[in-house]
Amino acid sequence: MMFATVLAAVDISAAPAKFVLDKAQTYVATGGKLHVVHVVEPQYVQYSFDPTFTGSLTRELENNALEAATKQLNEICAPYGLPAEQQHVELGRAADKIHQLSQSIRADVIVIGSHARHGWRRLLGSTANAVLHGAPIDVIVARLPESME
Ligand code: AMP
Repeated sequence: MMFATVLAAVDISAAPAKFVLDKAQTYVATGGKLHVVHVVEPQYVQYSFDPTFTGSLTRELENNALEAATKQLNEICAPYGLPAEQQHVELGRAADKIHQLSQSIRADVIVIGSHARHGWRRLLGSTANAVLHGAPIDVIVARLPESME
């Protein structure tokens, strides 16, 4: 099955990101587009359930993190020849931002990676689970090789 617009969500570590991108590319129809997103999750987003937590990251730190992520994503995307407008760096909760972007670019499908988690580790919240829950479009989950776990 091939799609006109595919959104690949990648963590910034190179090997899993490349694995997810390679997989995503196989779903892009001829003349279709591959978009890539990485979400910078600031500390305060993870603590946002605590109303008294005001956040420790300053705007400057956030901007530095966004800048670094943009550069890293650009390096990861270089072998794929993706133009800048198909590379997205967002700030916030990963699943929310991935869902929002998938709608704004009118993606047909989201591609993410997943580790095989066993036992108690499966109970922990993962980005893959969060992306699946409440996704506005179909999600393809690429099983990451054990060497990348
Ligand atoms: P995790 O559940 O954290 O092991 O991540 C599983 C998959 O979710 C990764 O292979 C990526 O496809 C995606 N993912 C994780 N973190 C991010 C992030 N910060 N931005 C975009 N996608 C991510």
